Amino acid sequence: MALLKVYQPLPRFPALSLSGTACELQCRHCTATYLAGMRSVATPEALLAAGRRLRERGALGALLSGGSTREGALLNLKPLAGAIQRLKAETGLLLNLHPGLLDAETAMALAGAIDFASLEIPATETAQRIFGLRATTADYRAAYERLRAAGIEVATTSVGTPTASKGRANPGWRSGAGRPGHSSEWAFVPPGAASRARC
Ligand code: SF4
Repeated sequence: MALLKVYQPLPRFPALSLSGTACELQCRHCTATYLAGMRSVATPEALLAAGRRLRERGALGALLSGGSTREGALLNLKPLAGAIQRLKAETGLLLNLHPGLLDAETAMALAGAIDFASLEIPATETAQRIFGLRATTADYRAAYERLRAAGIEVATTSVGTPTASKGRANPGWRSGAGRPGHSSEWAFVPPGAASRARC
């Protein structure tokens, strides 16, 4: 039997920004606007203090998000990986991660600490024209594989322009759906409105 768990962000599953209000990418979605609504946890001390407070107040978990590097990775994720491990060990909070284009080393450093990752899989056109990256859909697929290799569950959102997707899933990504341990969410969003929930 399939089990669907739904978590309401506030007050018991808030979004935390690992980069504060900083974003190197400043993409066309939000130019860092949405980071202002997240609690800043840009240092190990701030992250651990926020986690302890959340635990004391009965929180279930937290979304670890933030701005992006110019290459599309979550800014500050790599240097905070050790603190994220401590956060999990000390608080037991459910941790959902917006990883972006993380590398294999970072994915492995987060193994056992992250309960699930939420990863957008944009069409190449969207990644380049809207996010301002050189990355392609294949690069996001590689990030997905790195997360899975680290034992992290991944929920994906496919974001594409009508011209890129032609009303169907990204062609290079279709084989990813239905894998064991994989949950998938598909969305097709017009240009300009795409992925406001990205960070
Ligand atoms: S959507 Fe993410 S990458 Fe784009 S500007 Fe906002 S914080 Fe930066």
